Amino acid sequence: LLSVLQSLCGANLIEVIGGSVAGLSAALELKKRIHDDVVVYEEHPDFGKPLKCAECWVDHYGVGTPPEQFIKYSITHLVLKLGNRQMAIKTTGSYGMWMIDRPAYEKWLAERCEEEGVLLESGRRVKISELEGDLIVDASGCPSEYSREFDVPVRASRAVQCRAEGDFSQLAGKILAEPSFDFIGYYWIFPISNDEANVGIGELDGNRLNLPKKRLEQYVDGLNAKPTSWTAGWVGTVQHHPLYIEKHRIALIGDAAGLANPTNGEGIAEAIISAKVLAECAARGDMRSYEPLLLQILRKERRFWKSVLCLWKALASVRGLCEKII
Ligand SMILES: Cc1cc2nc3c(=O)[nH]c(=O)nc-3n(C[C@H](O)[C@H](O)[C@H](O)COP(=O)(O)OP(=O)(O)OC[C@H]3O[C@@H](n4cnc5c(N)ncnc54)[C@H](O)[C@@H]3O)c2cc1C
Repeated sequence: LLSVLQSLCGANLIEVIGGSVAGLSAALELKKRIHDDVVVYEEHPDFGKPLKCAECWVDHYGVGTPPEQFIKYSITHLVLKLGNRQMAIKTTGSYGMWMIDRPAYEKWLAERCEEEGVLLESGRRVKISELEGDLIVDASGCPSEYSREFDVPVRASRAVQCRAEGDFSQLAGKILAEPSFDFIGYYWIFPISNDEANVGIGELDGNRLNLPKKRLEQYVDGLNAKPTSWTAGWVGTVQHHPLYIEKHRIALIGDAAGLANPTNGEGIAEAIISAKVLAECAARGDMRSYEPLLLQILRKERRFWKSVLCLWKALASVRGLCEKII
């Protein structure tokens, strides 16, 4: 029905799969820039749920400060824990970091989309093959709807997280990351308040970690904390195919495009920036420049983090070798 109305009105139809940070940001930017009809499909009945995120917003790529009302606190230090040693690194360097209320932020994005005239269809899981839009934006996260429907093999990072109650007062204003050399990944503690934190474990670029929940349970136990809810998900840290497939009129953004940070799995900033660049190119009617323009923006930072990952893997294999010899 929507596409019949479209053709009668002469406007283009843009269909967005996924109503999380990437999809909602793209829909909002698109609606602000062009007068086409934009519809977002989200399989869950509510926007902002379920939460698969430790809720740390990093001001990469000029995405700026999160809206003030969603900031829980500004992160002053990243505490790196290696064995029994801890090193607190000031985060007030080149970019800021904040703990946010991500579900509330996404609900707000959805409300803004509606105010701008974006059509939101929640509780509806769609397939690319059933869509008829002039542009289809795949913001379905990882693994993407595109990779599922076109059978593209996906390598990604895996994360498990719980909300835990305990005494986190020593980390006030800070977040903690504890890299592992048994597997390539890390544990994290991102406090929400003095007595609540998002505690997680992530394996980077792997798919091999068999018992992440069990490991995390032991880790949380060691903190004398009590898990109150669990979540798990894939993080799109590897790009598998072009980001604009002209033949099918599909553009991929956020985790669906494999843009999350390959070393720490952060992907909020990448989701937002890819949404902005996509909208800019769509507004110019030049979708072919979407991928080169976006990758140019991300290149320097991704190159740095990929080198860190290589170094990490090298150190882990040297350590493994030494252990075998000893
Ligand atoms: C445990 C965990 C902790 C993390 N912590 C952080 C962090 O602290 N900071 C950070 O920057 N990043 C973090 N990340 C990564 C971050 O959450 C992702 O990079 C980010 O959510 C990507 O946003 P997105 O919109 O691309 O995809 P997603 O947030 O995955 O959203 C995809 C949406 O599409 C919907 N969908 C999927 N398929 C369909 C379909 N066929 N039809 C309709 N709807 C569909 C889904 O329901 C979902 O709402 C974390 C990830 C995990 C798993």
